[in-house]
Amino acid sequence: MRLGVHPRVAHAPSFGGSTVCCVNCDPDVGGSPRSYISGGQKEVLIRYTYRLYKAMASVKHKELYIPDFEEVTEVLRGGLESNFANVSVDVVDCPDLTQPPFTLAAQGICGSPRLADVGGVPYLMPLANKDKIYNFEKVSVQVDVPDAFIIGAGAGPHHIVGVNNELIPNIRVGGENKTYTCKINPDDNSYILEKAKSKDFCLLANLYVSEGKPGKVIEVKASKRTGEENFVTCMRKTLKAKYGEKPVGFGGVFLIEKGKAKIHVMPEFSTKPIESDAAVNEWLKFYEMKATLVCLSTFISADPGLDLRVEHTHCFSHHGDGGHYHYDVTPEEVEYRGFFVPAEYIYRIDAPEKTHMIGRD
Ligand SMILES: [Zn+2]
Repeated sequence: MRLGVHPRVAHAPSFGGSTVCCVNCDPDVGGSPRSYISGGQKEVLIRYTYRLYKAMASVKHKELYIPDFEEVTEVLRGGLESNFANVSVDVVDCPDLTQPPFTLAAQGICGSPRLADVGGVPYLMPLANKDKIYNFEKVSVQVDVPDAFIIGAGAGPHHIVGVNNELIPNIRVGGENKTYTCKINPDDNSYILEKAKSKDFCLLANLYVSEGKPGKVIEVKASKRTGEENFVTCMRKTLKAKYGEKPVGFGGVFLIEKGKAKIHVMPEFSTKPIESDAAVNEWLKFYEMKATLVCLSTFISADPGLDLRVEHTHCFSHHGDGGHYHYDVTPEEVEYRGFFVPAEYIYRIDAPEKTHMIGRD
C-alpha cells in the first residue's frame, strides 16, 4: 500500500474562501488531501485524522519559485565567490547521508521537497507560551508528506527535557528518530547535547521536509572566508539579488569540516520579558564550537507574506557540540561542504497572530 502524495499540479488559487492547490485538496480544511487511500474504514479514519490535525493549528501553504538547477549553481557560485576564496557549486547525486559524519535518518533529501515554518519567536518572547507544543508526526500530515524525513532548527520539548532547549531535528516519521536536543546545565553553564526522547517540539521550528530519497542535489563547497557574511546568509542574499520577490527556498545539510563556529544554546525561559535584540543576546548562552559540525539548514530568499524566519540553522556533532549556528570564527581555516535542494512549497503552521521581529537572527 502506497500512501498518495500531494502532487505538484496546476493550481486553483482559491475555492470557497480557502487556499486549494489541487484536486486532492479539501477546501473545508484549508488545503489538505481529500483522501490518501481508498476504501472503507481506513479512509474515514485517515480523513478524520487529517481534519483533526489541520483543525488543531492553522496551516497555509504557498508555491515557491524553483530555479533551473544549472542556472542556480552559476548564481550561487558567483555570490559565494564574493565571500570565500575557494568555491565550487555542482549538481550531483546525493550521497548516502545515513553515513558518517552526516548520520541522517534518511539516505537523501529528495522527493516532495518543502519548507515548514512552525510557530515563531513571538511564542518564545517577550515571555514563553509553554502551551505551544508541536509534533513531527503531525507536521508530516500537515505538510502533506506521509512518512516525512524532517531536518532543520527549532525549540526542543521543554515538557520532556525539563527545561527550555535547542532542537536539532533529524527524524524519519515512522522510522528512526535521530533528533538531538541541547540544554544548559545551570550549575556551570555547560551545554549537554543528547538524543531526543520524544517526537514533540515546542514554540518554533524551521523545517526542511522531504521523502528522504536519493536524487539530484546541489553540492556547495566553500573555504577560506574573505567576506563578512556567514555561509547561509551569503547564499540567501545571493538568491534574493537574482530572483527578487520570487521566493526561492532551500533546505539541506552542510558540514563545517574545519575551524570553529559561534553557536548559541537557549537557557531556561526568562522570567522577565525579553523585548529587544540586546536583551535576547543577554539571555542566550554563546559558545565557540569546533568542527566537525553537521548543520541542518533552511533559508528562503523572500517572504511571500507569511511572517517567516528567512534562515535558521542548527548543528550537532559526534563530540558533544551542538546548537544554533551564527557564523564561523575562523575565516582562514573554515571549510564548508553541503547538499541542498530547492523546495516546491513553503508551509506556514500556526503563525502567531501578534508578531514582532525581535530575535530572528
Ligand atoms: Zn535556533
